[in-house]
Amino acid sequence: MINININKEQFSDLLNLHHGVFYPLKNFVNHKQFKNILTAQKIKKKFFPLPIFFAIDKINFNRIKSHKYLKLFYRKNFLCLIKIKDIYQIESKVIGEKIFGSNFKKHPYFIKHIKKNFAYLDFEYKKLNKQKLKHKNFISPKEFKYKIKNKKILAGFHTRNVPHTAHQWAHIYMINKYKNILIQPLIGQYKKNEYLDKVIVNSNKIVIKMYEKNKAFYAPYFSYPRYGGPLEAALHALVRKNYGCSHFWVGRDHAGFKNFYQKYSSQNFCKKNEKKLGIKIIAQREPYFCLSCRKIVNKNCYKKNCKNLKKKMISGTKIRNLLKKNKKIPEYLMHPNISKLLNNKSILNR
Ligand SMILES: [Zn+2]
Repeated sequence: MINININKEQFSDLLNLHHGVFYPLKNFVNHKQFKNILTAQKIKKKFFPLPIFFAIDKINFNRIKSHKYLKLFYRKNFLCLIKIKDIYQIESKVIGEKIFGSNFKKHPYFIKHIKKNFAYLDFEYKKLNKQKLKHKNFISPKEFKYKIKNKKILAGFHTRNVPHTAHQWAHIYMINKYKNILIQPLIGQYKKNEYLDKVIVNSNKIVIKMYEKNKAFYAPYFSYPRYGGPLEAALHALVRKNYGCSHFWVGRDHAGFKNFYQKYSSQNFCKKNEKKLGIKIIAQREPYFCLSCRKIVNKNCYKKNCKNLKKKMISGTKIRNLLKKNKKIPEYLMHPNISKLLNNKSILNR
């Protein structure tokens, strides 16, 4: 018997698959599913945009290749006993190109999660230690839906940020239009200059308290960014459907990275596949601060004849750059109740 220690990202994938967060995918993809998702975004005739795989490096490959059973551990806790059905290989280059395009070698998800993968495992569970399939930043769709008593209309909002004024504009737009909103931040950043998990959790919990009680709900999405642009935005929509959302907000350059994708390609892709996703997509233009109206708007200004000549864009990067320099965050970028929580130690720096 061989023991394998899995990392935090693998643990989150395992939890999410086990608890139906990635439904209709229930297990790590097998060879056929991996290829079908890459080429046709499909598993068993159902739409599925990104492969969720279990990868091993060359060292582990050599350790396990002649074994049938493995024990998986996370932080010294026994998680499960698995029986290997298949160990398969897919060239990293093929995966990179299919997901991120020709520039894939510079993509952070490729560098961290694909480049070093030597092989992929297809397995079945023989024993599960359910007591350890838990995490403080994880709530299952079943638990969450029970907690909020299954709202008929619930609009989902994804973020991996501390909420700024453009996020709040979107929250309020959604509460006004759909009544109930689920703010579900992705918890599990790994890139330098992103916010720490606990800062994202606390600030999003605080923003919920600013809205009418029993209309805004919080749940973490325990995962990690794949920066997969349109494909990942579609995965986010499926995840929210599984958490009980009827609608999902897809942002400007949703799940994007630098200039890998067009500004509105995630919105367009999700809108195009709305039926296959089975969740309504909310696709709005980017909100900004109009300097003559002194308000956040996204198309129509507050003053009738405002020509909207002077505007300021709102971005998380802008705010994090101010934080790094220990500068004050202006109110047009962030509500003071939130900015007062932040300092230069709120950001990942490794
Ligand atoms: Zn204006």
